[in-house]
Amino acid sequence: LTEKLQNIFKNLRSKGRLTEDDVKEALKEIKRALLAADVNFKVVKDFIKNVQERAIGQDVMNGLNPGQMVVKIVNEELVKLMGSETTEIKLQPGSAITVIMMAGLQGAGKTTTTAKLAGKFKLKGKKPLLVACDVYRPAAIKQLQINGEKQGVEVFSMGENHKPANIAKAALLHAQKNKNNIVILDTAGRLHIDEDMMAELQEIKDTVDVHQTILVIDAMTGQDAVNVAKDFNDKIGIDGVIVTKLDGDTRGGAALSVKAVTGKPILYVGMGEKLSDLEQFYPERMASRILGMGDVLTLIEKAEAEIDEEKAKKMSQKLKKAQFDFEDYLDSMSQMKNMGGLGSVMSMLPGLGGMGKMKGLDDDQTAQAEKNLARMEAMIYSMTLEERRNPDLLNPSRKHRIAKGAGVDISEVNRMVKQFNEMKKMMKMMGKGGRRGKFRMPF
Ligand code: GDP
Ligand code: MG
Repeated sequence: LTEKLQNIFKNLRSKGRLTEDDVKEALKEIKRALLAADVNFKVVKDFIKNVQERAIGQDVMNGLNPGQMVVKIVNEELVKLMGSETTEIKLQPGSAITVIMMAGLQGAGKTTTTAKLAGKFKLKGKKPLLVACDVYRPAAIKQLQINGEKQGVEVFSMGENHKPANIAKAALLHAQKNKNNIVILDTAGRLHIDEDMMAELQEIKDTVDVHQTILVIDAMTGQDAVNVAKDFNDKIGIDGVIVTKLDGDTRGGAALSVKAVTGKPILYVGMGEKLSDLEQFYPERMASRILGMGDVLTLIEKAEAEIDEEKAKKMSQKLKKAQFDFEDYLDSMSQMKNMGGLGSVMSMLPGLGGMGKMKGLDDDQTAQAEKNLARMEAMIYSMTLEERRNPDLLNPSRKHRIAKGAGVDISEVNRMVKQFNEMKKMMKMMGKGGRRGKFRMPF
């Protein structure tokens, strides 16, 4: 497939703008790639249509050919489809107990994932309690006990002769006495969706307060996994999904459709049988895995980096002429975010990394700095375009409006404008002195 794509890329003449033909040609192959990766047919159809609409007429970035430009857009849209951000399991505030119910078909990986999750929570300083609600196979209880022991977490079980809902209720009382703050219910699956199973899960939900229902699906089952997710969500309601067995040779297209079909995020992915093989879900990684076009994506990154560099050059020229304004400020902030936030930028830049350490910036302080940046951003977004381009316009009444818009005190606006002016002065000096060839983030 990759070869085919390469050929398409070669055949398309380099043009400044994507034509309908470019897009259609490239999308044909991409559609095939998505279907081969087990992405749900309807999802693919809608998706291709959206991309087509977005892509036609777009400028082709320097360094890319039209086919690659389409891949770039496809990649971005895939990431969006999966929800763009990593999602954490939502816990109850304070010391309240969070009850998590694991659901899914038999063999999906519920029991294994329950133990894996317990390990993650333990690392975060939580005290989880695992509850054996699969009463149909003695081996299931034993399996949870063994895994729990491996993870060093307690397992609550009442054997096979109680209803799962009652076990859950008793487990919760135990957790209160025992000061557990997370209770994970490992339930029984069936080979196929069936009413008994759904009724049993519903009964648990009716008996105890379940805060998070997490569906476990097996990536190897491809499209079926998506149907299962839809069924579970329709019948009992789920809060998030964990996709297991992504260590296999599946492309993982099921992972893509889940969010599109259920609207619920993927939380983690299972990457092996070992209890440590549970990873946070990153939409970007999943998108490149599904597309299977690592090379093209690397190329795209490079092209993007060049654009950033061009922007940076322009900015440094502006700085020398002291034309730097709030628009540029926003731009450089978003560039920094693309690089992974303040913390990682500080540690990446040789000079600043050292500076960060010298100043003794710990995680808390970095978090504080990032919060301040977010407030600054809010203030800049509350400015009109004119104000951003010409900060001299900012008189008291305008500042007042901005403060209101950003939900901050006017003194904060004053402080930011002052800081901005100081920075501008400083950057201008640096530009003149030529101590640095390239523009640096002004933070
Ligand atoms: P349950 O029936 O849903 O409780 O499923 P289990 O937790 O018993 O898992 C079924 C099988 O899948 C076991 O052999 C697990 O070791 C295996 N398994 C679970 N998660 C993963 C995973 O992420 N990768 C691989 N390769 N195997 C997994
Ligand atoms: Mg099980």
